[in-house]
Amino acid sequence: MNRDDSKNAAAAAPDYVLAIAPYQAGKPIDELAREFKLDPAGIVKLASNENPLGLPESARRAITDIVNGLGRYPDPNGFDLKAALSARYGVPADWITLGNGSNDLLELASLALLAPGAAAVYAQHAFAVYRLATQARGARHIVVPARDYGHDLDRMYDAIDADTRLVFIANPNNPTGTFLPAGQIEAFLARVHDGWGGRVTVLLDEAYNEYLDPELRFDSARWVEQYSNLIVSRTFSKAYGLAGLRVGFAMAQPRLTDVLNRVRQPFNVNSLAQVAAIAALGDAAFLQQSYELNKAGKQTLVDGFTRLGLEFVPSYGNFVLVRVGDAARVNLELLKKGVIVRPVAGDGLPEWLRVSIGLAEENARFLDALTATLGSP
Ligand code: PMP
Repeated sequence: MNRDDSKNAAAAAPDYVLAIAPYQAGKPIDELAREFKLDPAGIVKLASNENPLGLPESARRAITDIVNGLGRYPDPNGFDLKAALSARYGVPADWITLGNGSNDLLELASLALLAPGAAAVYAQHAFAVYRLATQARGARHIVVPARDYGHDLDRMYDAIDADTRLVFIANPNNPTGTFLPAGQIEAFLARVHDGWGGRVTVLLDEAYNEYLDPELRFDSARWVEQYSNLIVSRTFSKAYGLAGLRVGFAMAQPRLTDVLNRVRQPFNVNSLAQVAAIAALGDAAFLQQSYELNKAGKQTLVDGFTRLGLEFVPSYGNFVLVRVGDAARVNLELLKKGVIVRPVAGDGLPEWLRVSIGLAEENARFLDALTATLGSP
């Protein structure tokens, strides 16, 4: 019997699905250990923009407390977490949508707003999921050339056409780490709102917001009040240290929140994630520690790159993009030395590597490995 049904499976999916190049995640530690026969304990992973401090103790306690209840489904509406977010950000609880990571919210927005015949606008080198989410809906991509590795909002506005339903903005952006100040975002939001009204939704993805220096932060929840066509997304995966639990949230006015909820799986955020997020949201000390560790680690990496004469993009996130030339070779050499970083050729940056900021000793291990690699072509 011929068990190879690959041709039939391919035939069943639309062309736009078959055209998708799947998301390349950071290599897991165990995978590298298997491939190169390394001790997992000695491997440094700086490849997925995770919080090097790991899970906050407050969240660990909250999870432990509810383990016995896991036989039941989670709260489908995340009542307690939405109440906590509402209190923190000053928006009504029914303007909040919870997601299985903020990735889920990007998917929900594209599921609700895009379709074949529609288009999404995003920047060259913007977060890879914008491309995937657009492609999975059979919608058209309008990719706007980057300016200094970041978003060029004037060109993005000009690129909006009659089919455009969604504009993705990552601020800060991943993998480039670039940042747009409040004034530029606000001017863009006003232009899109006035020019296109509710026809074009802007999704402002603020996954790295908590790493911004205080003077750069702005109250994007107030923009949600002002602009009915705005969705702001945030995550607990980065500065809050909950990447493995998968929880994020979006803020938007009721019309948009309603459509996101129509396409949302009822139990998309599990019980552990919900209680851990509430705990982490209340853990100001952990957040501050994460911010400070990141700031110091960023300086260490930047100093190291400067010493090595490497070009880098000044970063506002918890990672730095650095130009190493033959990135595939450098990456392989780093892997052999037990250091995992992220190649970004798939983002149109074949000479660059993205390095997440780790603990002081992890950053040092990476810089030593990089120095050794560059010194031995
Ligand atoms: N947006 C950006 C810009 C990101 O870099 C990431 C994580 N790589 C996400 C969203 C999604 O993260 P999560 O699903 O863990 O919230």
